[in-house]
Amino acid sequence: MIKRERIIIKLSGEALSGNRGMVIDPETVTHIAKEIKAAYDLGTLEIGVIVGGGNIWRGKTASEMGMERSSADYMGMIATIMNALALQNALEALGVETRTMTSLNIPEVAEPYIRRKAISNLEKDRIVIFGGGTGNPYFSTDTTSALRAAEIGAKKILMAKNGTDGVYDKDPRYHKDAIKYKALTHHEVLEEDLKVMDSTAAALCKDNNIEIIVFDMNVDGNIKKAADNEDIGTIIR
Ligand code: UDP
Repeated sequence: MIKRERIIIKLSGEALSGNRGMVIDPETVTHIAKEIKAAYDLGTLEIGVIVGGGNIWRGKTASEMGMERSSADYMGMIATIMNALALQNALEALGVETRTMTSLNIPEVAEPYIRRKAISNLEKDRIVIFGGGTGNPYFSTDTTSALRAAEIGAKKILMAKNGTDGVYDKDPRYHKDAIKYKALTHHEVLEEDLKVMDSTAAALCKDNNIEIIVFDMNVDGNIKKAADNEDIGTIIR
């Protein structure tokens, strides 16, 4: 049997909102599920998915408004589980066997995250959605992606962005002359403080030689292309 490549796909929570003013838009989630399925159907990959919670709640924002940070962050982690369940539902409706595994235990709705069980699910050709972030406040779902990738031996994270097609030297929304990088090193991302992922996540990727591909998921077919090593977006290695 050919050994399949194990990858992580990172989606921001906002990707699930769509543009009809909803927190979670089922139509949008179905569309994303189809895009992920297209990568899954390549048959060459074992896929873990991390979804953020920013469409529902961000701990840091709430703490800046006076809430105690850890409680606010636990709320954010619970938000990621809601998103994970929505995505699982959409993937299973398409006939893709999926498991949600959470770092905060809610055994009635999802399996607890156990590294060996996660690997076993992947080996059985199930997509694994990791909900609940790292389970610790003060972290992000970007860091969760790096951590889970390192734990399960994934060497590539697909950082799916909403409307940004790679990493630029300055914000392309405000600077017409912004230049897109084709490739970067982890060191450059950290040194130049490029806004790819937070520095904890970038450092974890650097230390564990995990490649990051930053691309625009709003272009149909891009998740599959990124998964299939087509030259889109910016590659960090
Ligand atoms: N969070 C956390 N620890 C983690 C992952 C997430 O405390 O390991 C909380 C944090 O409050 C964060 C929220 O969950 O603001 C939602 O995650 P994130 O901001 O990464 O979501 P995204 O921006 O990708 O939608």
